[in-house]
Amino acid sequence: MTRPLGIDDPGVDWSGARVLVRADLNAPLDDGRVTDDARIRASVPTLERLLAAGAGVAVCSHLGRPKGKPVEELSLRPCAEKLGELMGRTVELLPDCVGDDVRARAEALRPGELVMLENLRFHPEEEANDPAFADRLAAGFTHYVNDAFGAAHRAHASTEGVARRLPARAGLLLSREVEVLEGLLTSPRHPFVAVLGGSKVSDKLPLINSLLERCDRVLIGGAMCFTFLAAQGESVGASLHEGPDGQAQATELMETAVRLNCALQLPVDVLVADRFAADAALEVVPTDDIADGWMGVDIGPRTSSSYREAIMGAQTVFWNGPMGAFEIEPFVDGTRAVAEAMAACFGSTVAGGGDSGAAVAQFGLVDDFTHVSTGGGAALEMLEGRTLPGVAALPSTS
Ligand code: ADP
Ligand code: MG
Repeated sequence: MTRPLGIDDPGVDWSGARVLVRADLNAPLDDGRVTDDARIRASVPTLERLLAAGAGVAVCSHLGRPKGKPVEELSLRPCAEKLGELMGRTVELLPDCVGDDVRARAEALRPGELVMLENLRFHPEEEANDPAFADRLAAGFTHYVNDAFGAAHRAHASTEGVARRLPARAGLLLSREVEVLEGLLTSPRHPFVAVLGGSKVSDKLPLINSLLERCDRVLIGGAMCFTFLAAQGESVGASLHEGPDGQAQATELMETAVRLNCALQLPVDVLVADRFAADAALEVVPTDDIADGWMGVDIGPRTSSSYREAIMGAQTVFWNGPMGAFEIEPFVDGTRAVAEAMAACFGSTVAGGGDSGAAVAQFGLVDDFTHVSTGGGAALEMLEGRTLPGVAALPSTS
């Protein structure tokens, strides 16, 4: 397995280096305040390590979608303040990410000094991976470190272009993500169980196909299960489900599972609601008995306990996609049951995906998992077996 060289690779002496660090500081904001600092927090260890080793560091990131021009509300200022708070120091925010002034500051960076560059996406050249812009980003620095796993599936100037212009290494977070996810792909211990939920089959088609090839058992929940059930000819009432195309894909996946000898399991019971609201009338019914007008909003208790048993007996578990509309409290039980079973499982347990990761955090179980990926789309693309451009651009072992 090839892995990107990390910052602990002895080939680099960080003392006196002036390092451009690409982090993922794209935190949710509300009224100019960071509402969830998980991503910023996850970026701290790499920064601390480089600073302690005697580097001067400028950290850069995107934030939101400013569409290539400066947008006051999408300034990284709140993130600079939050990072400073977490690191117990002030982090100066420079007014831009490129230009003569930034270059001069880069050239003058002193060991142990940390500054932040302004939102990369204020420039359209960032997402275009413009070569001249990558040159300008690199200007004044001696090294580049990519720790932005959540952006590694995008070939942008700050994730791809600049990595080819400076001696480059992977940060601690990116290294760990790649190690864990590559491990699932190349050397999982068996039984390997995947739990898949979320809204659509069509969104996750390449992911499901990749997992069917590698897993012994795939447990389906979430709105996705109603597309499978509809494909089998069940009536799914008012449940969220896909039309003929999605159902044809579901049928094909079920055939693939048989061919690959992978057990693809669907719920046997569901929680149905008469409305998509916290005060809806609720009932648990067998999946072949969903009445017209009722919608499935979570897996039922019999399904939860059968999924729990499969998870507890696994050596490796990967989970993506909530089992129900967990954001609504009465619909959370199935998702919590999966998270708790994974937390209690002795095998290697990995969750990936924006909403699944948020669910694990909401239950306070992050530390009980082997790994909860910080990269939604990037993690799923890796598990599809795709090469991430931000990772491929880094020099690797062997
Ligand atoms: P992830 O971000 O973990 O990859 P997805 O984005 O695919 O997950 O799906 C998460 C969304 O699916 C959540 O917003 C959740 O409310 C929704 N969802 C799950 N089950 C249902 C359901 N039965 N009915 C409606 N929405 C559902
Ligand atoms: Mg999502």
